[in-house]
Amino acid sequence: MAQPKLIVIASPSGGGKTSIVRALIERHPDFEFSVSATTRQMRPGEVNGKDYFFLTEQEFKELIARDELVEHEFFYKTYYGTLKREVDRALREGHSMIFDVDVKGAQSIKKKYPNDTVQFFIAPPSKEILEQRLRNRKTEDEEKLRRRFERMPMELETGKTFDHVVVNDDLQHAIDRVDSIVKKFIQ
Ligand code: 5GP
Repeated sequence: MAQPKLIVIASPSGGGKTSIVRALIERHPDFEFSVSATTRQMRPGEVNGKDYFFLTEQEFKELIARDELVEHEFFYKTYYGTLKREVDRALREGHSMIFDVDVKGAQSIKKKYPNDTVQFFIAPPSKEILEQRLRNRKTEDEEKLRRRFERMPMELETGKTFDHVVVNDDLQHAIDRVDSIVKKFIQ
């Protein structure tokens, strides 16, 4: 059996990474999505245990204290983290794993699993288009949008250091591009 791999996809909010992650899982049913822990409020349509494990701040801090996270970050007044037990189980079962994490989380995962990780930064065609996409999504109020916009320069800068940068000017092209690199990586 081929060695399972860690496929890490990061982009600023509104960059299109969720659609790319979904498409990859459809094309590779044996891949597993890494369900992160978060203290963010659940959005309509989200399912606990499928999109995230939605935790209280106290519960999240206990995970940190027990060293149960591969990595974690605090931004947008929210904790986000990757669960060790999820990653270990997938790898043990021989499944490659897909991660939807922020740019810093992507760097931490690469650092911990340098040989088995491939990172993708999904870049927007422009900052203006990215802001428009995020507004159109209508998941955030103005204050939350502002926090997401504030982080973008750091995200765009950090993304340049990733293994692969894929510009999402056309979603289908971006999916095909990521998928063709993934196929080579998992061989
Ligand atoms: P959202 O609140 O829109 O679901 O996610 C906000 C950001 O948190 C996104 O960039 C998402 O990729 C990132 N994120 C989700 N889970 C994790 C995680 O486990 N670790 C890190 N570092 N970032 C995460």
